[in-house]
Amino acid sequence: MQKFVYDFTEGNKDRKDLLGGKGANLAEMTNLELPVPPGFTITTEACKVYLESGAEPPALRDEVSAHLEALEKGMGKKLGQADDPLLVSVRSGAKFSMPGMMDTVLNIGLSDASVAGLAAQAGNERFAWDSYRRLIQMFGKTVLGVDGDLFEDALEQAKRAKGVHDDVDLDAGDLQALVDRFKAVVAKETGRDFPQDPREQMDMAVRAVFDSWNGERAKLYRRQERIPGDLGTAVNICSMVFGNLGSDSGTGVAFTRDPATGHQGVYGDYLCNAQGEDVVAGIRNTVPLAELEQLDKTSYDQLLQIMETLETHYKDLCDIEFTIERGKLWMLQTRVGKRTAAAAFRIATQLVDQGLIDEAEALQRVSGAQLAQLMFPRFDEKAKAQRIGWGIAASPGAAVGKAVFDSYTAVKWSRSGEQVILIRRETNPDDLNGMIAAEGILTSRGGKTSHAAVVARGMGKTCVCGAEELEVDTKRRRMTAPGGVVVEEGDLVSIDGSSGKVYLGRVPVVPSPVVEYFEGRMHAGADDADELVKAVHRIMAYADRVRRLRVRANADNAEDAARARRFGAQGIGLCRTEHMFLGERRELVERLILADTDSERDEALAALLPLQRADFVELFEAMDGLPVTVRLLDPPLHEFLPDITELSVRVALAEARKDANENDLRLLQAVHKLHEQNPMLGLRGVRLGLVIPGLFAMQVRAIAEAAAERRKAKGDPRVEIMIPLVGTVQELEIVREEAESVIAEAEAATGTKLDLALGTMIELPRAALTAAQIAEAAEFFSFGTNDLTQTVWGFSRDDVEASFFTAYLEKGIFGVSPFETIDKDGVGSLVRSAAEAGRATRPDLKLGVCGEHGGDPESVHFFHEVGLDYVSCSPFRIPVARLEAGRAAAQDHSSGSR
Ligand code: ADP
Ligand code: MG
Ligand code: MG
Repeated sequence: MQKFVYDFTEGNKDRKDLLGGKGANLAEMTNLELPVPPGFTITTEACKVYLESGAEPPALRDEVSAHLEALEKGMGKKLGQADDPLLVSVRSGAKFSMPGMMDTVLNIGLSDASVAGLAAQAGNERFAWDSYRRLIQMFGKTVLGVDGDLFEDALEQAKRAKGVHDDVDLDAGDLQALVDRFKAVVAKETGRDFPQDPREQMDMAVRAVFDSWNGERAKLYRRQERIPGDLGTAVNICSMVFGNLGSDSGTGVAFTRDPATGHQGVYGDYLCNAQGEDVVAGIRNTVPLAELEQLDKTSYDQLLQIMETLETHYKDLCDIEFTIERGKLWMLQTRVGKRTAAAAFRIATQLVDQGLIDEAEALQRVSGAQLAQLMFPRFDEKAKAQRIGWGIAASPGAAVGKAVFDSYTAVKWSRSGEQVILIRRETNPDDLNGMIAAEGILTSRGGKTSHAAVVARGMGKTCVCGAEELEVDTKRRRMTAPGGVVVEEGDLVSIDGSSGKVYLGRVPVVPSPVVEYFEGRMHAGADDADELVKAVHRIMAYADRVRRLRVRANADNAEDAARARRFGAQGIGLCRTEHMFLGERRELVERLILADTDSERDEALAALLPLQRADFVELFEAMDGLPVTVRLLDPPLHEFLPDITELSVRVALAEARKDANENDLRLLQAVHKLHEQNPMLGLRGVRLGLVIPGLFAMQVRAIAEAAAERRKAKGDPRVEIMIPLVGTVQELEIVREEAESVIAEAEAATGTKLDLALGTMIELPRAALTAAQIAEAAEFFSFGTNDLTQTVWGFSRDDVEASFFTAYLEKGIFGVSPFETIDKDGVGSLVRSAAEAGRATRPDLKLGVCGEHGGDPESVHFFHEVGLDYVSCSPFRIPVARLEAGRAAAQDHSSGSR
């Protein structure tokens, strides 16, 4: 029979699928014999049954009873027992921690019957009533769905009536009265009394956790983070320990290293006489963890010891939650902690130096997405800027935008193309949409562990939190800074997530040191080199050492090619030639299109030839010694002609004035002739080459002559000529024959052997399906995954992305646009089979990809797996592709050795 409940002693950290992250790690800490309050976990499997069938699995109730009894036996008291109640917390915990899941309910088991017993046992009446009011408040809000403000308002009123500021200043009598108020709120809002039966409290809370899996916020977050919707959540039942028992008690959070920089040290916050979320909710001021040493040295020393145990055990940065109950330390949670991108790189290399992990593992600790983040520009330190606040640097980056004070406005303004900074006192899960829409997030309250900080770091968004001297007034949509500076909605602000500084207006940005390093303007070897640059340099070296995929650039000119080389490109995978037909040369193209006779056409081509040749010479020089794939002209010709409407108007006006221009008339005719209903599927690519005599021949000649010129200059050009949009081998054969004779002529004329390779793009389904035949005429394939995605899905990218992609994403038809990450099942399977078929025909067939997917982390892993030789992407994404190619290879090694 399936087991739905596991004691904390039964699980371990590798069972996150079944026990959720929190449960698995509680079990792991229990196994490590760390002080964890006993408890048990209801599995994600139970949740799945509930979600599918609408009811808990029938066996669950008895199983929970058995575990509860065992817990009660161990603790020597029963849940809610009147004279000495066992209390528990009910905590959600999915495999991935997820905002939007039900908040934890503490103090379950407390009731009218047992509150006096708790007071007597603790010798503290205030504590008992405080715990009870917290239970009703949390249960009312999260399980019964009562508006939380109703409780907050009642609490505020009680404090005001008493003339005090802090809830710790309310005494037992005040809190007892508050319990009555809270109970009245529950009765009024839900039409029933607060449940007095402890087991009913527990069961209702468990069910509420299950239900929260499908709450709107949780669903939104899963879609964002691409977490599958069918994992379900586990529920942890954990016996209570109390941080609200007086000044010798308290609760705190900590990191084993600084999650922003990776520095080792004591990082965290502690709050005396407090329970649960108090420490992160910002209701009272926390003290830095280091001060705990003065308050309770024994617990502090033990905590540091435990933190070291955890780091060594998890071999990574951990974050923890703990509570001290009358001088006794309890561990309530740990997990491998979130960190900034910079910290990820630094921590990975630090752990290698400490001998805790090897280089292959270090590669798994960072990601291309994080590297991309580090390549963002940052604020220019030398710029004059008016600083209006200084908060906690919660998530790095330099963000500039218009101030908005609510999520709705953030979304609305960003939809209309504005960049916004979302400013809140603190954020909660309801702000998620606004946070996604904003360039950055600024809060006036909360620390590194506040909701804003944690979520922003996860999204890679710039965030400054806890900028306390800023007074945020969301009702009046304004913020006041010291000295009376007022920021109204719509005013520009700049926030620096790396320093925590907040500025009025737009501060100019400068490139990141990581980019300076890739550009070669900063050296990792220098003594004073930036620590981050050193770490990135080391990780990149690991990646380059192990990766099998080569990385090339999509670059059309010498300047891009040179930058690509600095960034580590091993060639050009796609040089588009269409820009060589634009600008002043457009007129030559017009002449080519309008040519009535062979000689007119040849003249136009002859005029284009030297211009193209000069472009190629420069490019081949910039990539000397490395392969350069030049694609022959691809776009439909009408793209080089004037706009049809514009031209029609011009001609009509001229006719009205009776001075029609002969050339314009001919152009208009040509435009009409070339007009296509669906240019994407019209006369373009190889079809152009076959229909416009001499066009491809001219391009091939320019390439061949440029290569010859480079040879003469003692260069080493390695050129590959690529034919676009081939659907059948016959097309390729015809172009190939012509190209070969042009090349032979050029070789004869220049007296050099050129060794030019001829190959094709695979970007139509038919090409992929007939790859075995096409390989007979191609020395290489380059998968054009942009067009292949369009043609496999029948999507016209420009049309679909703007119109219905958001709806598709919202409906979960795909988790990410197939133009961003390769659609493995569809487009990807064609790539895989075409690669295999091509290689079967021609074992030394060179295989690459030149669509934008070449720089997308997940897609790079796929191309590695399929066995391509290289990926090609825009110059700026090259480091990301190198890193991910290294990570993919390192993963092979580690899974191979298992
Ligand atoms: P989250 O997923 O938001 O971290 P938790 O389940 O960890 O939620 O609980 C919220 C707060 O309640 C945390 O501060 C946690 O340490 C505290 N807490 C949870 N269970 C207990 C318990 N059994 N005793 C004391 N405090 C608890
Ligand atoms: Mg927690
Ligand atoms: Mg294409």
